[in-house]
Amino acid sequence: MLPFSFHNPTRIIFGEGKASEAGSVTATYSKNVLLVYGGNSIKRTGLYDSIKSQLNQAGVRVVELGGIEPNPRLTSVNAGIKLVRDHQLDFILAVGGGSVIDAAKAIAAGVPYEGDVWDFFTNKASIQAAIPLGTVLTLSATGTEMNGSMVISDWENKLKRGSGSPHVYPRFSILDPTLTYTVPANQTVYGSIDIMSHVFEQYFSLTDNTPLQERFCESILQTVIENVEPALENPEHAAARANLMWCSTMALNGGQISLGMQNDWASHGIEHEISAIYDIPHGAGLAIVFPNWMKYVYSERPERFAQYAVRVWGISPEGKTTDELALAGIEATQAYFKRIGSETTLAEFNIDDSQLERMAEEAVRYGPIGSFKQLHKDDVLAILKMCL
Ligand code: NAP
Ligand code: FE
Repeated sequence: MLPFSFHNPTRIIFGEGKASEAGSVTATYSKNVLLVYGGNSIKRTGLYDSIKSQLNQAGVRVVELGGIEPNPRLTSVNAGIKLVRDHQLDFILAVGGGSVIDAAKAIAAGVPYEGDVWDFFTNKASIQAAIPLGTVLTLSATGTEMNGSMVISDWENKLKRGSGSPHVYPRFSILDPTLTYTVPANQTVYGSIDIMSHVFEQYFSLTDNTPLQERFCESILQTVIENVEPALENPEHAAARANLMWCSTMALNGGQISLGMQNDWASHGIEHEISAIYDIPHGAGLAIVFPNWMKYVYSERPERFAQYAVRVWGISPEGKTTDELALAGIEATQAYFKRIGSETTLAEFNIDDSQLERMAEEAVRYGPIGSFKQLHKDDVLAILKMCL
């Protein structure tokens, strides 16, 4: 186990019906708020009307920024920064999935910064300050509700980049699982694959002596696997939706499950290059990349993959070598992604090999990626070819 320090300042307000506290909680922070949301989902579900009337009743002045895109765009972030400045707002309430929350974080960091907010995504500047934000989560997936990370797309230049800072942890996040009853089957699947992928990025590590962290990771993976199909069969399955939501938050909240472990994050880096160009859902991209990354790197530490096969998938070790077990676990992962309805090849999105070279180059723009196995351009290209 490596040395670590850990601080997570986000207050979690979890439970059925808790969305009804959004107005009163927000009012304890500010009376001048930018309300950020996505497409029409919150209007369809009635959440928009509820939040607006709560804020109104709590005496909060609201300026709105709707229309945040899935894979949120820099243009929306800049529009939000301008609104906050023009209307002298000092708090952001983000209501939506990861895209909405990530955009809100980028706006929060961009407001006090004199330069171009994109500097934070190109290693030109680091975030020194941000205005505070709170969130009402509507989709279980990213963990952004309790972490300091965000991912933004520069659509004009076909770039998708992450950034992060302790300054953009939400002050609070309201996790009301009933808000996810309306999440369609495909987004439920993609979100769940994202949760599992966040765990993979941390679990497949070369760091020794981390038994508690490994079990945290395995327990989240098992809990997701147990709950996805019940949520697909009955979208209003209260227990399944609640468990998936809590898994989303626990899987990526400042690295709590993997403290003292070296993380990898190469697969997320590769996925971002795919969705930067083709705008596919993040979770689908991960379902395509991760099993292939696993096949490419498992031999660096086959024992960890064998443990994953046994503990997470219940594969019997009897009569199998470590390598056979490792590969059986990888096959089980890919078969599972298929079974719950995800794409697992680029071809299913009509993506051919024409942009692979560029993706591989961009993925390593700031140096090799990954730590389980360091990947250079040729490695990334080989993995992308396996994804076709
Ligand atoms: P999302 O892009 O926020 O939302 C996907 C779709 O789901 C949208 O069309 C949205 O519709 C809809 N939706 C959301 N909540 C709904 C509900 N309750 N009922 C019906 N539809 C609903 O999805 P996401 O997976 O949460 O976020 C993906 C983004 O997060 C990607 O850009 C990814 O790279 C990033 N990400 C961030 C982190 C992090 O730590 N910050 C980690 C992993 C990934 P509306 O637009 O109409 O609301
Ligand atoms: Fe992710």
